[in-house]
Amino acid sequence: MREGAEAKGRRYLVEGRLLVELVDARTIRARCRGNGRVYRLGYDAERWYCDCQALGLCSHLVALQLVTVEAKA
Ligand SMILES: [Zn+2]
Repeated sequence: MREGAEAKGRRYLVEGRLLVELVDARTIRARCRGNGRVYRLGYDAERWYCDCQALGLCSHLVALQLVTVEAKA
């Protein structure tokens, strides 16, 4: 069975592949190692982003969203 984004994101966390570089009130910046390369991802201008090719919520963002939350003013 193919491993879904949710399970993969949790595994990335357990394996220490996610590096959160910056968190402040409006910005989150991180790197995640997966499939032999490092992806850049985060939250900026009120949206989540990741430079991988996945459509929708990718495993990298799943990992990041498990350890950070969007501030609700
Ligand atoms: Zn991604």
